[in-house]
Amino acid sequence: MKYVDEFRDGEVAKGLAKAIAREADPARRYNFMEFCGGHTHAISRHGVADLLPPNVRMIHGPGCPVCVLPIGRVDMAIDLALSRGVILCSYGDTLRVPASDGRSLLKAKSQGGDVRMVYSAADALRIAQENPGREVVFLAIGFETTTPPTALVLKAAREQGIANFSVLCNHVLTPAAIVNILESPEVRTLGTVPLDGFVGPSHVSTVIGTEPYEFFAREYRKPVVIAGFEPLDVLQAILMLVRQVNAGRTEVENQFHRAVTRDGNARAQALVAETFELRRAFEWRGLGTVPYSALAIRAGFAAWDAELKFGIEYRAVPDHKACECGAILRGVKKPTDCRLFGTACTPETPMGSCMVSSEGACAAHWSYGRFRDRAAKGATA
Ligand code: SF4
Repeated sequence: MKYVDEFRDGEVAKGLAKAIAREADPARRYNFMEFCGGHTHAISRHGVADLLPPNVRMIHGPGCPVCVLPIGRVDMAIDLALSRGVILCSYGDTLRVPASDGRSLLKAKSQGGDVRMVYSAADALRIAQENPGREVVFLAIGFETTTPPTALVLKAAREQGIANFSVLCNHVLTPAAIVNILESPEVRTLGTVPLDGFVGPSHVSTVIGTEPYEFFAREYRKPVVIAGFEPLDVLQAILMLVRQVNAGRTEVENQFHRAVTRDGNARAQALVAETFELRRAFEWRGLGTVPYSALAIRAGFAAWDAELKFGIEYRAVPDHKACECGAILRGVKKPTDCRLFGTACTPETPMGSCMVSSEGACAAHWSYGRFRDRAAKGATA
């Protein structure tokens, strides 16, 4: 790869779109889920869905790390910032995720909490080193991509004896979420979410490789194509999925071979295995409690585990009654199905997590799709 423009070439995109339209059987429908929020963003930003024939439909999945963070976990961080006097560090989008009673970490900051935005886990560790008299907690979120950097700071804190640093761990696992969707009543029994295949995440797969997806392809008879985040990557992946469906194949294919291998990054996997273990259960926004779908800090690093250090426990809190994030994250509804979309809920005033991050389905639709959707409604009215 030399330039990103190579993967955004309009003429090549038109050629791929024509191939999809030519090869998609008009007698059937193709429903593909893009698991990852990065793909949701790319599809909305580059108008990929507009290039597809009407019988090829993309369904948003739950792969946006900010979106799946449940209210109760944000509440834990807010309580640490306001009641325990810690310096609470996390990524920028996380600070805006709505918590219970209209709270957020950003609002906690305005109430006097020492909440700081960081760009990396290493930034949070540095803040702890610079403030030896204060407790510093890193609110860690994300899928397999962001887990190795958290593992690195845990190791560094232990090796350097940085006792005033700890991690509130919310790292979650992609394969468990995909199984949960495939096992959901909407997919298995109700048939309200027809799924013919997955566009698999790219960055996550650079760490875990393509091998973990082979199980879904085999057991659930669903093709998976791992794809990069550029529009041509996504279009090529959709074409590969159409071809698999037409041929009755259910395989794992790797469109993003410029960065992803079958085995992934062995060093990163070893680092994560050394510092984390599977959690018995973790609640996801939208998916509910999913067994063995997240990571907890290993006993050897207990002194740097904020949950143990401060004795805080998770309490489940229901989402805002009118927010449809849960249904959107399961692929059951679209952002425009929510009556708060674009009225009470915008990126400036998010009522749910899907409107916070640019990878969230609601934020992506607001930024790139709302005018088209309204125009289409007007045309059919
Ligand atoms: S538009 Fe806002 S309230 Fe509605 S589902 Fe999306 S995030 Fe939730």
